[in-house]
Amino acid sequence: MPAHNFLSRLVGSFATPAAENPTVAMIEAAFVHHGIDARYINCEVAPADLADAVRGAKAMGWLGFNCSIPHKVAVIAHLDELGQSAATIGAVNCVVRRGARLVGENTDGKGFVESLRTLVDPAGKKLTLFGAGGAARAIAVESALAGASAITIVNRDPVRGGELVALINEKTSAVAYLAVWERTVTVDEDSDLIVNATSIGLYPDVEGRLDLDMASLRPNMIVADVIPNPPRTLLIREAEQRGCRTLDGLGMLVNQGVISIKHWTGIDVEPGVMRRKVEELFGV
Ligand code: NDP
Repeated sequence: MPAHNFLSRLVGSFATPAAENPTVAMIEAAFVHHGIDARYINCEVAPADLADAVRGAKAMGWLGFNCSIPHKVAVIAHLDELGQSAATIGAVNCVVRRGARLVGENTDGKGFVESLRTLVDPAGKKLTLFGAGGAARAIAVESALAGASAITIVNRDPVRGGELVALINEKTSAVAYLAVWERTVTVDEDSDLIVNATSIGLYPDVEGRLDLDMASLRPNMIVADVIPNPPRTLLIREAEQRGCRTLDGLGMLVNQGVISIKHWTGIDVEPGVMRRKVEELFGV
């Protein structure tokens, strides 16, 4: 009888709610395509159970796991070490076992920057970033670490916006400004990249519209949206009509998957396989 190995490598996700998170389908599509004998287990984990879940994953030899809402900050207390951007952002969405140590990484912003690199190198670019929540923090920090020169944070809540501006100015070489979002925003004409990192436009609010003067978008600007569902948001469609190049939220999601699998297995997977899977799921 030939030797068999019935022990698959394990990774997964801890979140609540977990049922609508499509990451398992996307990651497993890559595992199947590349013949990687690994499973991604999507787990519903309540805040009070997070410590046990992390210990369980460690005890069972998981290679690592994603953390989503509401565990991205709380998980840090259960880890041995943080990667540079996770430490700067103050949140972890991807835990990686390195030897006996659990290391917290953040792939949100890295996934965005990878997606951006398909169109342009962020080095020296000026960003106008809408939002100051978790996604915006990750995008701002990672874009700054990738060499973006200036970032204008447009946010409704001046306290949250101000905290992100201070973080960028203190911890990175980019210069950040705050624009409190009280009325229709006109994008500066020297902006290279406009990013929606708010939840405006996310299903079911599909007609959600940023209070932004679309006439201030110029064809040389790149417009990116973090919203993965639906991928073709109003912002993306209107920006295309104005001649801008665009990046949808699926690019960020797919590239996060690529980066996570690399962290866990060392393997570079083909992003196109995951892109096709999420397009199928979101009916693109
Ligand atoms: P948070 O709750 O942390 O932040 C939400 C942000 O949106 C805040 O800045 C908030 O402003 C702003 N906002 C919400 N509603 C409005 C509104 N009506 N008008 C103006 N501003 C508004 O959320 P996250 O940062 O975690 O997530 C944001 C979005 O990013 C979600 O839709 C999520 O799906 C998406 N995302 C996509 C990823 C991908 O891979 N594609 C990865 C991670 C997130 P204020 O501070 O004033 O309240």
